[in-house]
Amino acid sequence: MKMWRCSVCGYVHFGDVPPEKCPKCGAPAEKFVEIEKEKAALIERSAFTNGLLMELYTLLAKAAEVSARGEADNLDPGCVGIFKKAQADSQVLRRMIMAEVETHIGKGKW
Ligand SMILES: [Zn+2]
Repeated sequence: MKMWRCSVCGYVHFGDVPPEKCPKCGAPAEKFVEIEKEKAALIERSAFTNGLLMELYTLLAKAAEVSARGEADNLDPGCVGIFKKAQADSQVLRRMIMAEVETHIGKGKW
């Protein structure tokens, strides 16, 4: 399938022809440029992984939220230690995901 990038805002359209107007910024069809096959394949290949990274990011944010509630509950030092570690590790992993996604975007893998 062909891919078209809006030269105004970067929105990517999947289809045989560009859309009449960009759903994101309203630019007309003439503003769309077809993405080369090689780059289109890269976008398609990385879409699944990017989706997984976003899903993992959401789960890690939820883990941090649950852990904050556990820390506040403060049953005993063992539990508090686990909840604190979970929050810290979650934050590191979320920042790693953000950096990885930024790298993907920079390489056109988005
Ligand atoms: Zn646009």
